[in-house]
Amino acid sequence: MSLLQEISKRKTFGIISHPDAGKTTLTEKLLLFGGAIQEAGAVKSNKIKKGATSDFMEIERQRGISVATSVLAFEYKGKKINILDTPGHKDFAEDTYRTLTAVDSVIVVIDVAKGVEEQTEKLVEVCRMRKIPMLVFINKLDREGKDAFDLLDEVEQKLGLKVVPLSLPIGMGSDFQGIYNIWEKNIQLFLEEKKQKVGETIVINDINDNSVDEIIGEKAAATLRDELELIESVYPEFDREQYLTGEQQPVFFGSALNNFGVRELLDAFVEIAPMPQPKESDLRLVKPEEKNFTGFVFKIHANMDPKHRDRLAFVKIVSGTFKRNENYLLVREGKKMKFSSPNAFFADKKEVVDESFPGDIVGLHDTGSFRIGDTLTAGEKLQFKGIPSFSPEHFRYINNDDPLKAKQLAKGIDQLMDEGVAQLFTLEMNGRKIIGTVGALQYEVIQYRLEHEYGAKCTYEPIGIHKACWIEADEKSDEFKEFARLKQRFMARDNHGQLVFLADSAFTIHMTQEKFPNVKLHFISEWN
Ligand code: GDP
Repeated sequence: MSLLQEISKRKTFGIISHPDAGKTTLTEKLLLFGGAIQEAGAVKSNKIKKGATSDFMEIERQRGISVATSVLAFEYKGKKINILDTPGHKDFAEDTYRTLTAVDSVIVVIDVAKGVEEQTEKLVEVCRMRKIPMLVFINKLDREGKDAFDLLDEVEQKLGLKVVPLSLPIGMGSDFQGIYNIWEKNIQLFLEEKKQKVGETIVINDINDNSVDEIIGEKAAATLRDELELIESVYPEFDREQYLTGEQQPVFFGSALNNFGVRELLDAFVEIAPMPQPKESDLRLVKPEEKNFTGFVFKIHANMDPKHRDRLAFVKIVSGTFKRNENYLLVREGKKMKFSSPNAFFADKKEVVDESFPGDIVGLHDTGSFRIGDTLTAGEKLQFKGIPSFSPEHFRYINNDDPLKAKQLAKGIDQLMDEGVAQLFTLEMNGRKIIGTVGALQYEVIQYRLEHEYGAKCTYEPIGIHKACWIEADEKSDEFKEFARLKQRFMARDNHGQLVFLADSAFTIHMTQEKFPNVKLHFISEWN
């Protein structure tokens, strides 16, 4: 197969949702369609479960599952589909944001009863900013939930999307009869009393035909006709171009648990979802069909076994063919590397592969060279645009608790930061180190892993910081110099050497912006 054929076969996407909306269940049903797994229950939930186990054991368990479910690949209708796993727990939001830099589209899962929830809002915002094509799946239609039209409004308003319903539920909860598929123009009946819950699919050539009344009853048929009319007058027609540019989001209804409406979602997905896309670098736009390999690291997993300190770096291939045992350039370090056992991922296993193509993810074993966001190429010195960090929510000083292990501590912190577990800030004034995290849970993880993997001990000390603000300013200007002098106690460098102002309150940020209008503060490390 030619490179171009390999590329056009691939669809790499992520499923995002608030925890419990049904992401794991939907993933599993999609894998069942692809024949990638044989039975329900095969996909493990990577959710953080609170309860009997202590938090860090729970994190270890989660890390284990998370390696296994990082990439789930399967074939369907001649396409190779790669699902990239995105943790739903908010303390791992950074992981999810980073994974979203490696997908070409997403499916957003929403619970019909709960509607748009907090995590959905945050994740969709990131996708919107990046103009990632999104499909929406409204789940749990077998339960009582919100009215379909109210929900469509909610999705538009809270998520800032432009929705186009491509299916419509007929009834809901106990009255749920099935789904009218606007895309395929048919009705799929839901038969809950039968073990096989997917009922007949009936092709409807004319919605005004009497047969519709016979199938779903007069009342439901009348409602359906009214609603379809409403959809026609209120919502735009589906336009694939607009979907691909992130200007329009098709919506499907269904029930993942009952495997209802899932095939329709998948069929539409394979037809309309984008193939691997070009990616911007500091030098130029890199196109998938270019001969030379390029790719970037979006995730790093440390080995769970402390005796083997190797790590698995997840590389999304952007262009060309990645080959085993070929020399590639780690651009940041100017270092040549080759990989004798690159892993490819499948739903139920990973195995060594000789070649991979754009859209694919390869897992590369490494002992500490990689950092999240790194670019690998066949030799060209280009860098893909970095993966942004968001301002952490929590900040603490980190102190060495064992003077004999200072080196181990420094190394451990370095490697955990490369993995993206948290962010490190070093104060300009005195070199003290501050760890910033999205969730409080990460402090425990860091302490535990430093001790168990690096033999180092740390303690934390509180520090009153509200947000990390990345600074955009002319560092030679008098205004900046005055700002830096006044705020010298709060000036720090992040792990990439970028200048950061650690603001102690929202008020300080506000005042600073007023007083120093030419010193721009950003809550994200890449603002261009
Ligand atoms: P995740 O946190 O988004 O991965 O959600 P899960 O897939 O683990 O689902 C959360 C809960 O909702 C589980 O108990 C599922 O069995 C249940 N669930 C998922 N889909 C449906 C559905 O279509 N109908 C109903 N009634 N429950 C569902």
